[in-house]
Amino acid sequence: MKETQTKKLIIAIDGHSSCGKSTVAKDLAKQLHIAYIDSGAMYRCVTLYALQHNIIVDGVVNEEKLQHALNNISIEFRFNPETQTNQTYLNTILVEKEIRGMEVTKLVSTISTYSFVRKKLVELQQKMGEKESLVMDGRDIGTVVFPKADLKIFMTTAPEIRAERRFKEFQEKGENISFDAVLKNIQERDHMDENRAESPLIKANDAVVLDNGNLSKEEQLQSILQELQKRSLI
Ligand code: C5P
Repeated sequence: MKETQTKKLIIAIDGHSSCGKSTVAKDLAKQLHIAYIDSGAMYRCVTLYALQHNIIVDGVVNEEKLQHALNNISIEFRFNPETQTNQTYLNTILVEKEIRGMEVTKLVSTISTYSFVRKKLVELQQKMGEKESLVMDGRDIGTVVFPKADLKIFMTTAPEIRAERRFKEFQEKGENISFDAVLKNIQERDHMDENRAESPLIKANDAVVLDNGNLSKEEQLQSILQELQKRSLI
């Protein structure tokens, strides 16, 4: 950001699951020296809490308990200077690894269909944006959370390409899961995210589409920086 810039800069990155939103959002935040907030991590925290407290049993959600539980959930991001990234804390416990596992991943899109969950998390996200400049990624950031964001990006690419990337990540972490299961999960999450009644995943009218199937990390970053320059935001 320009040294003299006093106005807050809000960049919204939305798009399908596993298309690399968080990678480019983190790189962008680092480059601009502003915060990065992973809104998906917040939905994942609520899902983890629900699993830990028997609010989801055999895939069935106890709605009443979930609603009540929201009062007992605090989610924070703390900056880790070693990794130079924000890490997610659920009720003061570091849960970065737990929220990325397959158990949470399978149920998170169900939990995020509840309007009372979305209301609570959107409020928290908007508060974060009142405090400081940030890059936030998710599904409804440019449409619902920050409809007046300075720049909105809508990222996507073919489900098979996304599944291939996510499959490699699971393999590197030693999680034993087949490619087909990863692809199925991505397709199911796309379907749920696009078809839910409350804040479905849609491209905001004023969002710039970034299909990153054939783009390197650096090319994605450069293309967003160019959009910011075009708008004289940096
Ligand atoms: O971004 P990530 O894949 O970690 O998000 C996990 C899930 O949380 C998504 O599949 C989606 O169902 C939900 N989500 C959402 N709204 C957001 C961010 C994530 O509904 N802003």
